[in-house]
Amino acid sequence: MSRSNRLQVWSGSAPSEPAVPRANLSEVAYTGANPDGTGKNCKNCFLWRPASNECTIHEASVVAVATTICSYHVFGAPQDGELTLQNLSPVQPECSGLKQVKDGSACQNCRFFRKIAQLDGRCIAVADPDENNADALVSAIGRCSRWLEAF
Ligand code: SF4
Ligand code: SF4
Repeated sequence: MSRSNRLQVWSGSAPSEPAVPRANLSEVAYTGANPDGTGKNCKNCFLWRPASNECTIHEASVVAVATTICSYHVFGAPQDGELTLQNLSPVQPECSGLKQVKDGSACQNCRFFRKIAQLDGRCIAVADPDENNADALVSAIGRCSRWLEAF
């Protein structure tokens, strides 16, 4: 495996029906809700550099804008200062799942989400081994690398 692939997570595009077998929760870089309840995208990621539309962990040639997102999203205020991750090989977009999203992405606007309560739902594309591989219980405003816009 090349160094640039070290941080690879499952981010392949999924068909309209969940893949068989489903991915496990531990494989899809699932993160819970942003503390402020917003949908996730580069504009609320600590690793975004808004002045240059770059991302700290991707090559400088990779365009990251307010409305893109990848699986390495880290909630926080974007930085335009001297933030560098020395000795880290750049992550490739095909590994990070970098993609355009309209209004931020969250489970609640993912085609695999099935709402069960105000802020909770089950994901038909991700299994939870700790729950006998049931559809994973997820936050409506969580997100994982399998996110696909709802129809
Ligand atoms: S591309 Fe990913 S890691 Fe980079 S700023 Fe956007 S969400 Fe954050
Ligand atoms: S609903 Fe979508 S974003 Fe949420 S865990 Fe499932 S596949 Fe990932």
